[in-house]
Amino acid sequence: MLYDNLSVNEAGHLSIAGVDACELAATYGTPLYVLDENRLRARCRTYVQAMLTHFAPGSVPLFASKALCFKGIYPIVQDEGMGADVVSAGEVATALAAGFPAERLYFHGSNKTDAEIAYGVKQGVGCFVVDNVDELQTLSRAAQDHDIVQKVLLRITVGLDPHTLAAINTGKVDSQFGVPIETGQALRFVEQAVKTPNVEVLGYHSHIGSQIFEPTSFCDQVDRLLAFACEVRQKVGYVAGTFNLGGGFAVRYVESDPQVDIAANIKAIAEHLNAGCEEADYPVPRILMEPGRSIVADSGVTLYSAGRIKTVEGYRSYVMVDGGMTDNPRYALYKSAYTVLNATRAAEDANFECTIAGHCCESGDRIAEGVCIARPNHDDVIAVLTTGAYNFAMSSNYNRLMRPALVIVANGEARLAVRRQTVEDLLALEA
Ligand SMILES: *Cc1c(COP(=O)(O)O)cnc(C)c1O
Repeated sequence: MLYDNLSVNEAGHLSIAGVDACELAATYGTPLYVLDENRLRARCRTYVQAMLTHFAPGSVPLFASKALCFKGIYPIVQDEGMGADVVSAGEVATALAAGFPAERLYFHGSNKTDAEIAYGVKQGVGCFVVDNVDELQTLSRAAQDHDIVQKVLLRITVGLDPHTLAAINTGKVDSQFGVPIETGQALRFVEQAVKTPNVEVLGYHSHIGSQIFEPTSFCDQVDRLLAFACEVRQKVGYVAGTFNLGGGFAVRYVESDPQVDIAANIKAIAEHLNAGCEEADYPVPRILMEPGRSIVADSGVTLYSAGRIKTVEGYRSYVMVDGGMTDNPRYALYKSAYTVLNATRAAEDANFECTIAGHCCESGDRIAEGVCIARPNHDDVIAVLTTGAYNFAMSSNYNRLMRPALVIVANGEARLAVRRQTVEDLLALEA
């Protein structure tokens, strides 16, 4: 099994954290998102402890809400000592509705609307990650209106290509996110920000991409941020005390992906940073990180029911499931690889090569191609692993499919965290 929370039980079914996947499917219906709370907590703890151990005091991971945003996630990450990143009024509202403290929210986004900025300030969001000069001015006015000094980080583009997919690489110079160092604009951005009324600049933010396996890219990012911070110190006289390195640690979707040791990576980044600071005689900054995928992805499993099974002679076999691109658009978007199991026959040989196709009228609606699973019968439960990140969060109602329910499993029990959408829900918005 890809992960140690998965096993085969006495019935020959897939067990997720000690809970029978087929029983979950029977109780809650399919498609179904399943989240293993203890595994997720262990991921949070790894980040919190490694950052406390290796980085300067006050260093903390922030959960990137966009990876998986629903109320039930916030008490868990809060309990584990994390802050959270939010990128829209909707994410702010969800976190606050769950009782998450506003001062531990970091508000992101390259195009926050004026209304979102005003709302965030009013709600007491702890820190804005300001993307550009325009936003800085709007935020300053909003802070004046509320008679507060708003803490901010400035989003800087360091000009790095971490060799991941172009669609999820955000650190290069030509990007709609942040202000680039290379063009000289970042320096002017800081110069202006430190003089802007009602904002207090804590430091810099940069995010270089996603699904990054090596610490090397993060070390390069640290080098560039540090060189920039030194340049600013010399030319502007401002010394940034916080670096936010963004998210991006990779997770293992298939056997052939390497296992990323998060704690070892954090240690390597910290050693690199400390050496750089010593050389530059720069005070070691507090570090923030914003893991999304690496917190939730491998705690999630999606369960489907096998429907029609079709063989196109001389070509391939299709197993069609009752969900697809509507609950997991990542194959359609990025051709992402997934590990698929027949949860009903988890003990049988996985020797049936097939393509897992979805329910939509769309030839791109696939979950995986050329995977081997135990030959399914109609209504067998099909499990797709590593779906905790960017699945629920990216789900849609295309073809008017209902969004699946989400259950959390912990200590041998399951609880419903998000109920399945109904036709009434779908029609509720329409005149
Ligand atoms: C997407 C994103 C993250 C989270 O990235 P993961 O790859 O899920 O860890 C963090 N910070 C910012 C600014 C992002 O855009």
